[in-house]
Amino acid sequence: MINPAHDPQAITRILFQDFPLWMMVVFYISAVAAMAMFVYGCYIQVRKYWRGQPISLKQMQQRIGLMLRDIVSHRTLRRRDTSAGIMHAAIFFCFATLFVGTATITLEYDILKPIAGWTFWYGDFYLWFSLLMDLAGVGVGVGLVYMMYRRKWLALPKLDYHRPDRQTAEPDYDRSWYRLEDWLFLWNLIIIIVTGYVLEASRLVWLQTDHLVWDYRWWSPIGTSVALLMHDFGLSAQGAGELRYYLWWFHGLIAFLFIALLPFTKAKHMFTAIASLSLRNAQPTARLPLTDPDAETIGVRSITDFNWKQLLHTDACTKCGRCHEACPANASGFPLSPRDMVLTLRELSNNTLQGRKIPMVDDLKAVGDGVNQIRSETLWSCRTCSACVEICPVGIEHVPMIVEMRRALVEDGEMDAAVQTALQNVQKKGNSIGENKRKRAAWTKKLDFTIKDARKEAVDLLWFVGDYASFDPRYQKVAQSFARILQASGINFGILYEAEMTAGNDVRRVGEEGLFEHLAETNIAKLAACEFERIVTTDPHSFNTLKNEYPDFGGNYDVIHATQLVEQMLTDGMIPLIRQANRKVTYHDSCHLGRLNKEYEAPRQVLKKIGVEVVEMPRNQDNSFCCGAGGGRIWTPDPLDMDKPAELRMQEAAQIEAIDAFVVNCPKCMNMFEDAVKSTGNDDKLEVIEVIELIASCMQLESSESNETDTTTPTEISEG
Ligand code: SF4
Ligand code: SF4
Repeated sequence: MINPAHDPQAITRILFQDFPLWMMVVFYISAVAAMAMFVYGCYIQVRKYWRGQPISLKQMQQRIGLMLRDIVSHRTLRRRDTSAGIMHAAIFFCFATLFVGTATITLEYDILKPIAGWTFWYGDFYLWFSLLMDLAGVGVGVGLVYMMYRRKWLALPKLDYHRPDRQTAEPDYDRSWYRLEDWLFLWNLIIIIVTGYVLEASRLVWLQTDHLVWDYRWWSPIGTSVALLMHDFGLSAQGAGELRYYLWWFHGLIAFLFIALLPFTKAKHMFTAIASLSLRNAQPTARLPLTDPDAETIGVRSITDFNWKQLLHTDACTKCGRCHEACPANASGFPLSPRDMVLTLRELSNNTLQGRKIPMVDDLKAVGDGVNQIRSETLWSCRTCSACVEICPVGIEHVPMIVEMRRALVEDGEMDAAVQTALQNVQKKGNSIGENKRKRAAWTKKLDFTIKDARKEAVDLLWFVGDYASFDPRYQKVAQSFARILQASGINFGILYEAEMTAGNDVRRVGEEGLFEHLAETNIAKLAACEFERIVTTDPHSFNTLKNEYPDFGGNYDVIHATQLVEQMLTDGMIPLIRQANRKVTYHDSCHLGRLNKEYEAPRQVLKKIGVEVVEMPRNQDNSFCCGAGGGRIWTPDPLDMDKPAELRMQEAAQIEAIDAFVVNCPKCMNMFEDAVKSTGNDDKLEVIEVIELIASCMQLESSESNETDTTTPTEISEG
């Protein structure tokens, strides 16, 4: 590699070559000023976060491990936008290489050499270093050009800053500043990279007669290619030397500017995103935060009521728009975009917390109709479906923030009349539908056997039926089918009859924490008096709360969803199937079973085992599109002139050829899609049916009162 005639120590780059002393002094003063600005900027941001509420973080080692895994794999960035993820990886890793390389030079030149006389930046190490840095610059450059291309030419809607929560004439509608910031960020980095290459090239042309430089030029292939081009264009050695001076300063100052402004610009996501990923909760939506029992008020009213992690989240947002695109409320035209909510809170946080003094209470209000405030209709538009949380590449947890703000609204009595009625029903009657609690088990009267009362006798399986299975006429049929399946399979099961109260999943997500706690404690007390091994429910909302949230109140149970149970029973040969269904359907993942509890496989396995072919919708599993019922929205009718989330979903399903059913696993999905299949005119093509009903039909357990039309050509299963 190195010509034996050359001294390896001479194969290096002489820093500040031919620079007068005053220039070096100015350079170091500029460097120190940039670093000082950077440190001050970090201090301001950290002080801002510190004004949020304290939280205790457990299992940090595990969280940091997950953060490192996600950063190394770039998993969260590649999902559903592979090209952007790959290009971001190119920028990230190559930029990190350039940073480490530059830091290595500083370490040698400014620390090790003056203090201990150690040097290593020469010879083979220097040559390989030059090659690596040259190629890393290409990686960053290609990535940045792609990012520009997708912004400018692909013009992705998720990257415009159209706000659904503001009218165009409103003072805080315009977010073009963010677009400008995005472009400045990209151009700043591009200019640093390009000037770096031209600087390298001008040095090569300048030193073209120096064998210790020119003979090794191809270790900097890009710089050399540019140098040859410059040479061909007639640039003399002297001209290149002068160009080098000017470029050196330009390149250096623009890099210092980048460092100095880093904590104040989009570039800060390099730190905040890593911190945000390290602070993620395992179940941000499935298990909502508890309230402080000693607090005078609950929920978030002012920006400082958020905890410091949530304030940091607002700064971690890269404005990628993935949550904006995934949000069913936004897609349906509701005034909610999770991205815009995060940015609004960021602006409020910046406006009110950066100064030395904490401003007046009114300036801190997070919810209201003013500038940089979240409107109540925005908060009530949310379905708590967690699509935003799930797709956010930097681990922002929108749903707990929304619920915290709702808690304050509910405490202040600021809610829709329909929500208020539902909550009053729950309070008085133990169910959101407003039915007499004594009628909770009326659906069982249509069975030709009696379900055990789990309060009176021990059972293996306690079935927590839930409100919709108990009272909704359509879903009562599913409950009856499930009862028949359990009975026919010889399961020892029982229910709580009128002692059951709504589990409280939606009550909690609406923000009525006090009522939720009452429900949890009451149900836990009732369950404590029963003897059982396991809890089953057909309702993913109840499933979620019983499984994930009741443990915080002392209720620790083995909870299973009905589809998980029947999957196990089918595997164990406990379900006496008489025929195969022979149907082609599509299957909708409910948010609470799927995204919140990561159960995508059991319902699909059940369908496969009973001879149902599933044709997936484009958005499936963790990308499933909410029916629109979650977060208490089932209680609030959607405006008639809007495309409801369930209608958008039904239109997606209707695009699939040759299917005859839309299969659900949740009573609230059933409710929403039963309406949507009619309102979209697809009721002659698609039957909305429950997984449980399909199994019951394969067991020939249909009730004589069932209104279902069996359009299939079943295949008998021969015995033996
Ligand atoms: S939880 Fe769902 S509805 Fe609510 S903001 Fe997130 S994506 Fe939108
Ligand atoms: S909140 Fe997350 S997903 Fe949404 S725009 Fe910001 S970084 Fe992207």
